[in-house]
Amino acid sequence: MIAARTEAREGLGGEITEAMTDAVPQSPKLMTFAALGLSEPLTRAVAALGYLAPTPVQAAAIPVILREGDVCASAQTGSGKTGAFVLPILEMLGRAPSASPRRVRALILVPTRELAAQIGEAVAKYGARLPQPLRTCVVVGGVSINPQMMALRGGADIVVATPGRLLDLVAQNAVRLSWVKTLVLDEADRLLSLGFAEELARVLALLPDRCQSLLFSATFPSGVLALAEDVLHEPTKITIDAGEAPSPAEIVHRAIEVDTGKRTPLLRHLLATNPWSHVLVFVASRDGAEHVTLKLAKTGIAAAPLHGDLSQGARSNALAAFKTKKIRVLVATDVAARGLDIAGLPAVVNYDLPRSPVDYVHRVGRTGRAGAPGLAVSFVSAETDAHFRLIEKRNQLAIERERVAGFEPVELTVPAHDPHGGVKGKRKSKKDKLREAAALAGEKKAE
Ligand code: AMP
Repeated sequence: MIAARTEAREGLGGEITEAMTDAVPQSPKLMTFAALGLSEPLTRAVAALGYLAPTPVQAAAIPVILREGDVCASAQTGSGKTGAFVLPILEMLGRAPSASPRRVRALILVPTRELAAQIGEAVAKYGARLPQPLRTCVVVGGVSINPQMMALRGGADIVVATPGRLLDLVAQNAVRLSWVKTLVLDEADRLLSLGFAEELARVLALLPDRCQSLLFSATFPSGVLALAEDVLHEPTKITIDAGEAPSPAEIVHRAIEVDTGKRTPLLRHLLATNPWSHVLVFVASRDGAEHVTLKLAKTGIAAAPLHGDLSQGARSNALAAFKTKKIRVLVATDVAARGLDIAGLPAVVNYDLPRSPVDYVHRVGRTGRAGAPGLAVSFVSAETDAHFRLIEKRNQLAIERERVAGFEPVELTVPAHDPHGGVKGKRKSKKDKLREAAALAGEKKAE
């Protein structure tokens, strides 16, 4: 196990002023939750969940958060980051009961409804043994606003929200943010890439001048760095060293060469010949999700689609059916790639390849979580081979190409590179490029 590294920094763009804070345990295996400063109701709750020791991100973040410091954490999916911020928030809120039941004291902002629901569940699980229960409201778009207004009427200690719906509720006077003590921006890169920047700025403007801010992000593009500069005050920077997260290092990666038109029969074959209890299949578009689901269902395979066009009810039902193994296959767009925790998921299939190397990491991070074995299978065609090589290169992976008997590709498989950097015989026409750009825009919307 590799330790988390923390650095106290003066602003994110500035120089490191103090490296390796001594409060950070170097061997989280020896650390206990109690030693991090959590009291019995919480240590008993995590013990009941079977957690033997804090994960590195928890060991690094919990003491800092309890000291009311700001945190900027770069942690991979599956690293236990939800506990890293939820546990100390519960500890702090439990210690100081609210002066007024109507005051929101912790605000957790997330990019997707599923992630919000998941964090709401984590709060309930971790906080189950607190002597005085804390009120938590999950507020997300895509469902009727009225029940959320009703739920907020009695006040809430913790609000988990997507930014748009939160602003709607503020506009309706259902919630006020002027008492927020702790702000969490979870999956901050996703918040920005999904176009929440403007809404986020409006939410931030409603918060008190100084509140404790915790930013968690898998990647740190310039937008996230600027957000961190803006929001965080002398943050402790936490980085989980590569190799600690279950993905992609601890996952078995397979790449199967197959012609585009043969992918569904191959998927069916893999489902018939592998003992996978359930499988998450990633596709590039909403239509793709519907289409593949239908094809599987026609041959008696219990499957459901998950994409941004569905109602929130349908999305929740599909996810719940998948988590409880009522269906075997969930066919999803990248809306499911981030943050979702599906216990013991044995395999992820990239029916369509992800757009970027980072998306690949997020997708495959749905399997191999919490130390369980994981498998990521990617379908690679002649068309997509060059793109997959880029994904491998960026993620420092070298995945052997396999063929499955009866599904061998007949299309040209390895296009030769020309000396000018293009791919011979595969140079895209202007029309192709426009089509790709339109498809990309469509996919972005699909999330
Ligand atoms: P997260 O990265 O927060 O989505 O957590 C990933 C999974 O790890 C969840 O199923 C958690 O229940 C689990 N988990 C979180 N913390 C621990 C821990 N300290 N020990 C074992 N499992 C954990």
